[in-house]
Amino acid sequence: MFVTTCLNMYYEETTSKGPINIWVHFLRFLFICSQFHLISGYSNRDRALQLMSHYPLIDGHNDLALQLRIHHSNNLSQIDLNHIDKVATDISRLRAGHVQTQVFAAYVVCGAQQKDAVRLTLEQLDVIRRMCTEYQDFELVTSVQEIIESQERDKIACLISIEGGHSIDSSLPALRMFYQLGVRSMSLTHSCNTPWAESSSHLYNAFLNRESSLTHFGKAVVNEMNRLGMIVDLSHTSWGTALAVLNYSKAPVIFSHSSSFSICNHSRNVPDYLLRELKKNQGLIMVNFYSPFVACSDKGNVSHVADHFDHIRSVIGAESIGIGGDFDGGESFPQGLEDVSKYPAIIQELLRRNWTENELSGVLRRNFLRVFEEVEKVRDQLITQKPSEVHIPLEQVKNPCRLELRRPKFSSNAERRSLNLLFLTSVLLLSIAF
Ligand SMILES: [Zn+2]
Repeated sequence: MFVTTCLNMYYEETTSKGPINIWVHFLRFLFICSQFHLISGYSNRDRALQLMSHYPLIDGHNDLALQLRIHHSNNLSQIDLNHIDKVATDISRLRAGHVQTQVFAAYVVCGAQQKDAVRLTLEQLDVIRRMCTEYQDFELVTSVQEIIESQERDKIACLISIEGGHSIDSSLPALRMFYQLGVRSMSLTHSCNTPWAESSSHLYNAFLNRESSLTHFGKAVVNEMNRLGMIVDLSHTSWGTALAVLNYSKAPVIFSHSSSFSICNHSRNVPDYLLRELKKNQGLIMVNFYSPFVACSDKGNVSHVADHFDHIRSVIGAESIGIGGDFDGGESFPQGLEDVSKYPAIIQELLRRNWTENELSGVLRRNFLRVFEEVEKVRDQLITQKPSEVHIPLEQVKNPCRLELRRPKFSSNAERRSLNLLFLTSVLLLSIAF
């Protein structure tokens, strides 16, 4: 854009001056460019802002809903979403950061697994749906077409994801009902294993031993997500699970908020061999900004984050990269990237590192739209497939609170006889009473 503007100015300046030597042309061109730079201050910052006004960001992961629960018990009436204290996300800062589509995560802690994870997830979906329908700036979206239309209407689109497969309590009907509520993406695990997929974290030891990284039921979950048109998210899964899904999924998948393991050796990041598999799958890695993942310490800066972009581009190309800031999912964010208003800073830095505007328009927006569109295409191809009736075997769930709603079975004749006796006694007592 800078060069184009310089050329225009140069053309206007020289057309009236008749034929001149090529070197004079060149020197005059350099002089006009430097003058233009000084006068207009048309810096990488300006280029970043201009690029983002044409290609506003689609960000892959944000945990504002979690903070609304922690600080405000999801009572939206107590706050003004235009300006919220103690968090990194609100409407005014999303606008300042040129965020046009935000994937909001419905996340519930792993401690809720085998307990009330489904209820808590419903409550998080409720608060996201409320904030995205009660404020004029927001708009709930569920498809590529709706994202494009919301940009035309100058809205901030809210796309809903579920963070952690424990939210579906090993139930495909629950997954389908979440889809009906607008969920269009789910990460298969958070920091806990599920009975059917492994986490990258060893924080919880439940469901450690299983026959594979992605069980028969885990494959049924991936199939059902492909059939529904829900994006499979591999952030937080183990590398074994990620590889199994990359080889199994019919649709492209994403890492919604993960960075490069080669740059920072954290288990939440993605090693190069998995990046290459992701490339074959035509999926997307959306770079996470959280300091412990980008700088392997609490003290990150913009340059640390840009190093991840550079490395991933060198392995699989810019067309496989997006942005998943992970704001409000943790405390330590890099200096210069402290909240959602700061996104232009990373685009500015990548421009300085000679990323092209075409590459960056992909990173900001087009790459995610391509992947989501492909996920929708796979859904359309599977239109004749019926909803899956695969059930997880109870012995794999190992949850004493899980009920099987069937007619009660009597385990022994003795039990049946004692129930008959109870019934006869009740009849006898009632007939005496009346
Ligand atoms: Zn996360």
